Amino acid sequence: MNHREQLERVLATDPADVGCEQAIALLHMYADMIATDKDAAREYPGVAAHLAACGPCGEDFQGLLEAVTAGA
Ligand SMILES: [Zn+2]
Repeated sequence: MNHREQLERVLATDPADVGCEQAIALLHMYADMIATDKDAAREYPGVAAHLAACGPCGEDFQGLLEAVTAGA
């Protein structure tokens, strides 16, 4: 990533945003936590910020959350 891309990324997204790689790595755990405790978003603000900002990850999370809550 060059400096210009880095700058555009910072300007376009929440600075707390952890990015796709981290969000996907934490997605299962995060969905489990949200399913049992809605306040879990406060523990992982970077993941919450990413899911709100990134369409594909947000959709993945919604699908995962539905699967988790349907099985509960
Ligand atoms: Zn993403």
